[in-house]
Amino acid sequence: MRSVHPQNLRVATRGTTREINRRIALNLIRTNQPISRADLARLMGTRRGAVSLLVNELIQEGAIFEGATGEAKRGRKPTFLYIDSRKRCVVAVDIRPTRTFLMVTDLLGRQLASVTSFPTEREPKRFVADLVKRIKAVLIEHKDLGRCQGVGVVVPGMVESGAGRVLLAPNLGWKDVSLRDPMAAALGLPVQIENSGKACALAQLWASRDAKAPTNFVYITVSDGLGVGIVLGSELVRGQHNIAGEFGHIPLNIDGPRCGCGATGCWEAYVSNLATLSRYFGRDLRERPVAADVAALTVDDLIARARGGDGKAMAALLSTARYLGLGLGSVVNAIDPSHVYIGGEITAAWDLIEATVRSALAERALTPPAGATPISIVPPEQYPRLRGAAALVAAGSFAERVVA
Ligand SMILES: [Zn+2]
Repeated sequence: MRSVHPQNLRVATRGTTREINRRIALNLIRTNQPISRADLARLMGTRRGAVSLLVNELIQEGAIFEGATGEAKRGRKPTFLYIDSRKRCVVAVDIRPTRTFLMVTDLLGRQLASVTSFPTEREPKRFVADLVKRIKAVLIEHKDLGRCQGVGVVVPGMVESGAGRVLLAPNLGWKDVSLRDPMAAALGLPVQIENSGKACALAQLWASRDAKAPTNFVYITVSDGLGVGIVLGSELVRGQHNIAGEFGHIPLNIDGPRCGCGATGCWEAYVSNLATLSRYFGRDLRERPVAADVAALTVDDLIARARGGDGKAMAALLSTARYLGLGLGSVVNAIDPSHVYIGGEITAAWDLIEATVRSALAERALTPPAGATPISIVPPEQYPRLRGAAALVAAGSFAERVVA
């Protein structure tokens, strides 16, 4: 995941070389475990003796452990290296306009306890106080899971992750909100924040252990809004002003429906969950008042109705599918990825909408091969956004994140 930029070469001091080698070793162990010292040395292209020094240090620090496997029938049984994910955990937070979700994972981003959620407080200071209280409670409840290594937070909006600030989150009504520092101060833990689409893309990149996994891809998350994360050459694209990938606010039709960002006709305003539900009810659900039974209906319910034979529900889903594919055409024309991942509630209806999404993509893509760009679904039960949040902390421990 580390790449070298010719314009950004620094002289490696003894300390930085050691730190880089350490991260490379940890990442190789993570992606190849169980792995022997000899294989690790081979992958690192270095002498076995040098690797053994590094490995012994990592074992002493508790970052990895060495365990036997019984594969050799004769002679000395080889020992293998594993990442030590025991007794250490990460708290993942997914902030959404209506509810905020919490999950505890291990250092590899694997779920350790059930997901909890609570209503999202819109006033930022009260939100931080509420969230901190709930994270503390979760950590007390799950004391047995070990020491918390940090908190990863994904936000439905543009984030300056270096400064830990939310620049703009239209669907939350947040503008220039400091999130990381007050949380870190109150929790006494490292906190990382990131845009939800970018974090999902990062998690997808990080989870790929297969050498043939795509290194140029786009991750689209469709929920209350629409987030897009772009990975090119195994690097997350952030852009000059942290807004790269905001395809959700590219207009499909400038005379279209109003969007949370204040403009009209944005792609998001056609494919968000609220847009799909608005289409079903034949009215803009942003406009209050909304009857309680209407407000309570979710996209999951809508999919269930479509499967139950409700023609209006099916039509609403297929309209969203068409707009999703048309917008995807613009993304493919602009980025030309080798793969597209889609996450979000609507993917539960993928068997119903796939053909419509693909034909709309093919209609807008500039060449037939681009129109046939492979699409994979990341199902909601894999909690992609929470895995993205966990990866912000977990991935940082293994290999340096590089952003273009
Ligand atoms: Zn917009």
